[in-house]
Amino acid sequence: MSRKPIIAGNWKLNLTVDEGVALVQALAAPAAASKAEVVVCPTALGVHAVAKAAAGTAIGVGGQNCHWEEKGAFTGEISASLLKAAGAKYVILGHSERRQFFAETDETVNKRLKAVLAQGLIPLVCIGETLAERDGGKLEEILSRQVKGALAGFTAAQLSTLVIAYEPVWAIGTGRTASTQQAQDAHAFVRSVLRGIVGGLADAVRIQYGGSVKADNAKELLSQPDVDGALVGGASLKAADFTAIIAAA
Ligand code: PEP
Repeated sequence: MSRKPIIAGNWKLNLTVDEGVALVQALAAPAAASKAEVVVCPTALGVHAVAKAAAGTAIGVGGQNCHWEEKGAFTGEISASLLKAAGAKYVILGHSERRQFFAETDETVNKRLKAVLAQGLIPLVCIGETLAERDGGKLEEILSRQVKGALAGFTAAQLSTLVIAYEPVWAIGTGRTASTQQAQDAHAFVRSVLRGIVGGLADAVRIQYGGSVKADNAKELLSQPDVDGALVGGASLKAADFTAIIAAA
């Protein structure tokens, strides 16, 4: 089955609103020329202005996280409906930095996913093992637990827009990349887990690879049959670097 590649930039805690707007303007032409779906995820503060700047281009905008409640006494949080109103179409969920620094669990990812799907936003659900887990032979156990935990209670029909981002924690921001074979093997395994949950829809779910994706390794990673795009951190912050990755797709 052919799946449209999705290349998403996770800007994390970087770029002012003006810098984000300038970056999206610089990416407009490369995104229009690409066969891939191109997404940028600014800070919550930047979503509105960046989405405005991206309007009419081939670039979609996403949030980096959202709370499961829609509104109320949750100081410092933003909701899926606020992201949508600001112009977002995507939301990253369960990024390993959220799991590591902000106590995100499979259970809270599942709650956030419910809120994101209720707003008709496209979720990019992040999963991935630590080096200790991989070295301890627990890769499949961890990936299986994370996928099943995040997707618990949903029907296949509800998950029709789901995107999974496989991001080995040891490859994020470290300059270390999974080998193409490691990436392909993990993606094929994740797809087999998905098949057990959503049946035939598993062949349509896009699975992005993330972890030190750069211009010089993107093409090889993206050539793997089960690698349907990339979630890019550091290399999404400069127009030239991200453009090269978009072009590789
Ligand atoms: C990420 O933040 O999801 C990521 C993969 O970061 P980097 O590309 O910098 O490793």
